[in-house]
Amino acid sequence: MGLLNSMADPKCIIKEDDTVVVIKDKYPKAQHHFLVLPKINIPSIRHISQEHNNLLFHMDKIANDIVQKYKEYKFLIGYHAMPSMHRLHLHIISSDFNSPCLKTKHHWNSFNTPYFIPSKEIVQQLKESGKIQAIAPDKCKEYLLRPLRCHKCSERPETIRMLKQHLLAHVTQKE
Ligand code: AMP
Ligand code: ZN
Repeated sequence: MGLLNSMADPKCIIKEDDTVVVIKDKYPKAQHHFLVLPKINIPSIRHISQEHNNLLFHMDKIANDIVQKYKEYKFLIGYHAMPSMHRLHLHIISSDFNSPCLKTKHHWNSFNTPYFIPSKEIVQQLKESGKIQAIAPDKCKEYLLRPLRCHKCSERPETIRMLKQHLLAHVTQKE
């Protein structure tokens, strides 16, 4: 019930319209981390079909509107291939990944491998083929277990602690 509770809590909501709610991620993995959720009950990205075309397009637009407010940051906007939380949610996350809540290789790889599917790609797939290409569970596991790799340079830190230390060098660049 985690996301559903947050969707109903005015303290968590940063934007809302007839069809979607935008909330702050409770365990942000970067300086700015929000989730866009539809009001209708779609459990996850695996339950999307052609009829949701307009909704996903709208969620993408809302996400892109929000990032305009944080011009000094770059953002990633997309879905996890195998989400853990119920109710479809689109991640909006700043690319600094500077946060105490980013603690594990799983956290890192969930945003920095093909496990993270850009929203634009999802919208495109739905528009062109009427469905979303599922990523096999084995493939998802492989992405999450990949060796750590900085998303901004060639550094390959051995541990998440070393990666986090390394990322601080990029923070001032806000890219
Ligand atoms: P995922 O299902 O892997 O796409 O990610 C679920 C996201 O929901 C994570 O980024 C969590 O930090 C976040 N989260 C977990 N519980 C809550 C909650 N109660 N309210 C808001 N965000 C949450
Ligand atoms: Zn780097």
